[in-house]
Amino acid sequence: MMSPVSELGAAGYAIFWGVTLFALGIFGFRVFQLWRYLSLGRKGAGAGHLAGRALAAAGHFFGQWCQLKRFSPRDRAALGHVFLAWGFFLFALYYLLFVIIGEGFGISTAIENNSFYAYYSWVVDIAAPLVIIAAAWAMLRRYVVRPPRLKGQQTWEAMLILVTVLVHPMTHLFKMASGLALGAPPVGLGIALPPVSAWLSSFFAGGAASWHSFFFWTHWGFILFVLGIIGYTRYLHMVAAPFNIFLRELPPKGVLSPINLESAGSFGASRITDFTRKQLLDLYACVVCGRCQDACPAYASGKVLNPEAVVQNLKKHLLKVAPGLLKGNKTPPIIGEVVSEEAIWDCTTCLACQEICPLAVEPVPKLVDMRRHLAMEGGRLPEPVRGTLRSLEARAHPYRGTAATRTTWAEGLGVKTLSESRDIDMLYWVGCSAALDSRNIRVARALARIMKAAGVNFGILGDEELCCGDPARRLGDEYLFQTICRRNIGVLQGYGVRSIVTACPHCFHSLKHEYPPFGGNFEVVHHTQLMAGLIRGGRLKISGAGAQRVAYHDACYLGRYHGIYEAPREVLRACGMLVELPRRRKNSFCCGGGGGHMWLEEAPEKRVSARRAEEIVRAGVDTVATACPYCLTMLEEALKTGATESPIKVMDVAEIAAAALGVDDVT
Ligand code: SF4
Ligand code: SF4
Repeated sequence: MMSPVSELGAAGYAIFWGVTLFALGIFGFRVFQLWRYLSLGRKGAGAGHLAGRALAAAGHFFGQWCQLKRFSPRDRAALGHVFLAWGFFLFALYYLLFVIIGEGFGISTAIENNSFYAYYSWVVDIAAPLVIIAAAWAMLRRYVVRPPRLKGQQTWEAMLILVTVLVHPMTHLFKMASGLALGAPPVGLGIALPPVSAWLSSFFAGGAASWHSFFFWTHWGFILFVLGIIGYTRYLHMVAAPFNIFLRELPPKGVLSPINLESAGSFGASRITDFTRKQLLDLYACVVCGRCQDACPAYASGKVLNPEAVVQNLKKHLLKVAPGLLKGNKTPPIIGEVVSEEAIWDCTTCLACQEICPLAVEPVPKLVDMRRHLAMEGGRLPEPVRGTLRSLEARAHPYRGTAATRTTWAEGLGVKTLSESRDIDMLYWVGCSAALDSRNIRVARALARIMKAAGVNFGILGDEELCCGDPARRLGDEYLFQTICRRNIGVLQGYGVRSIVTACPHCFHSLKHEYPPFGGNFEVVHHTQLMAGLIRGGRLKISGAGAQRVAYHDACYLGRYHGIYEAPREVLRACGMLVELPRRRKNSFCCGGGGGHMWLEEAPEKRVSARRAEEIVRAGVDTVATACPYCLTMLEEALKTGATESPIKVMDVAEIAAAALGVDDVT
């Protein structure tokens, strides 16, 4: 059988290579153009661990781990994407071998007359209907079911993409079927014919040669059309995502990059060119799936912030201004023009958007970079942010109007300060909340009693302890953070501290991961890890007979940031009480206190904590256990006030353990 290209003779090859090279040229030109736009960004820090990154990127891309790890009854769309992607890989190899090489070089008869072609025809024959089903399912979801996360996403671009995904396997099947009707390989190879095409071939019994030629050219034209539009549509994620995943932030997560205050010409990001190239690559990788929007507590509580919109608006802005910037035009501002100031301050830095994003897009560092500009250069700060930073600057803690000192909480407990004795095994870093907030003081007392009961030789810094700096850094004041951080490191090193325990995940994160670039390297454990270890080692003997239904609320800065999910649960299990909330572990819902929001004001109807409180009330528990002072404060307030007013108690895991041990203040 003549191939559809060779049967036209030289004209056939001229048309084939002409249209193929034209489409490749459009694709290559666009990739080059987008590459130049990326070069407008700052160079970021280099990426280490190249082999590990490459393996992980391959697993995410070819193995579709990026989707499979998110598959759940709530997110079945992930499975549809897996079929689409695997179908794409199988077809891409088919086109390369049997169309570009086979047809393009006139050797199709030779390379198709073998068992490999026969078996591969089977593979794509089965893949094609699966891709058709997945594309039809995606269309149905987007245009008929319309889940909330796809609200407003019924665009012509989305339709064009889904139509191309739906139609290309159809044209492939028709091409194969008409070929089989002509007796084209794998007919006669002694191997069963690919079932779907074989069934369809009966429809082409008459005029098969014309049909085969028609479907070959239609099919190939279609594929080349897709190749040409990749760089201009969200198909672009297929090119950008593997690199974005390769360059993604490796654990520890959420560590903000330090600014060199002496050499930096400007602080933070106020223009698109202030972002790093990786941050710009993020914009290309986003496929507008809406998962981040769905997971964002700020968006869920009616605030302006929508991480998907932040990414997409920045992308549109980049594509609009980049050609002019390459010609030397002035860089326009983005704050207020592309991303509103309100959206920038709405973020609680909970990382839910980054955790859920299948393509490693990272909105949080962009939002914090814009905060950095507002805080350090723009001077445009909402009054509550200004007040918090002023308090941190003047008193080294964010609490205004507290009567407590750094040691009031420890009265009567016989806790030594390091200025009294350096003979300790572990420093208890109390944190501002546990030292200065009347409710959280009870947590500090419970933890101190537990450590004493277990024979832990610990001490505190007392008045020498300052805020860890987390609120200053998350609110964008890097200068203030670095000042506080350096002073704390000086004090800790002065006492020769090596090992630290803290009950605050924000202090934990800062001390463990954000102090090392400034020379502070300490072994830091969270109090739930310490307690779980003491229970395991037999130093805390809790008889687990709790009668209460206690739900554990995963704190963002403990769970998503550090993957500490088991330690608090281990303690609660030892106390004999643990029930799970529907949204838990990496899918936990923020309390609304992170990112400096503990000290900011929220409109009552837009409180993130109220959304979480509603979930807790629906779970029908007696108590909700927390392992973070911010969560404790935010949830207690939310459960006591407003529509969610409820008798549900909020207690830190340490308070529950102290009560179970009989060493709490009440006992
Ligand atoms: S970090 Fe949390 S609040 Fe901020 S954009 Fe992401 S999901 Fe929304
Ligand atoms: S940022 Fe990630 S999760 Fe959000 S829409 Fe884009 S691809 Fe989806």
